[in-house]
Amino acid sequence: MRNYVVAIDDYINKGLQVTVFGEGKPEVLITAGIHGGEVTGIYTSRLLMEYLEKHQLHQGSVKIISICNPTAFRRMERTSPYDNLDLNRIFPGNEKGTLTQRIANAIWQESLSADFIIDLHCCGVHGYSYTLAVWQEHESARQLASMLDIPLIVQSGGAKGQLFVESCAAGRPAVIIELPGGGQGGVINEKAGLEAYNALIGLLGQLEMLKCEVVKPSPTWCDKLILQRAGFEGLFIPKTSSGQTVVKDQVLGIINGIELKSPCKGTLTSMRPMGYVFVGSPIGNLAPHID
Ligand SMILES: [Zn+2]
Repeated sequence: MRNYVVAIDDYINKGLQVTVFGEGKPEVLITAGIHGGEVTGIYTSRLLMEYLEKHQLHQGSVKIISICNPTAFRRMERTSPYDNLDLNRIFPGNEKGTLTQRIANAIWQESLSADFIIDLHCCGVHGYSYTLAVWQEHESARQLASMLDIPLIVQSGGAKGQLFVESCAAGRPAVIIELPGGGQGGVINEKAGLEAYNALIGLLGQLEMLKCEVVKPSPTWCDKLILQRAGFEGLFIPKTSSGQTVVKDQVLGIINGIELKSPCKGTLTSMRPMGYVFVGSPIGNLAPHID
């Protein structure tokens, strides 16, 4: 009998690449790719790394983990094929757990010294950029969100086990930036990625970590997203688009000729394109404005 293994170099990496620019306080942690296919955020974090390679920080440090979920990234999917756990529902993780639980624990350990945490995600290819924060409960998260030049700040439902939710609960201000992109195959929205990159540069300017022109952002404050669903089966034709601000009772779209109206004033953070929908199918997400 002969028994042997033919080695195949598959280039699959399970380790986390952590890059730190500068040193000391304040310390800003940028994470991306916690959901492997949400690649606009990965693109943004890499743009920032290129910038910080060429521009020295005036004070403090920026720690960047561009690909927080390497095996999920390799598949361009939300979760790792090793255990299919959602990395952003299991923080602070478990150092003795499965791969994703151990990754959560490793990222958590890296986050303990951070003064500000920005976690980059994607809200789908038909999405629109917004900052997601538990801003109504945490004043420090509200302040951090207000320093980011992203058009909307949306109140989070605060689901347990998310890095930004658990960090806020532990006293470290943290927010998510949701960016258009991701989806099947991992689509980068270049424009949104660049806007988020500029928002991060602007944040570092306001924290006096970079010497640059500082413009105070003026985002729109919103309550929790309201998911719009199809009430019946049929052909959906949108009458609005992602990023559009709508008033109460404005027609968002029609299904078989019947109007689907907005429940209140707000901005659409997503709107599905024309297509066939079924009872309960998601149509779009509305961020209600807080006046
Ligand atoms: Zn995500």
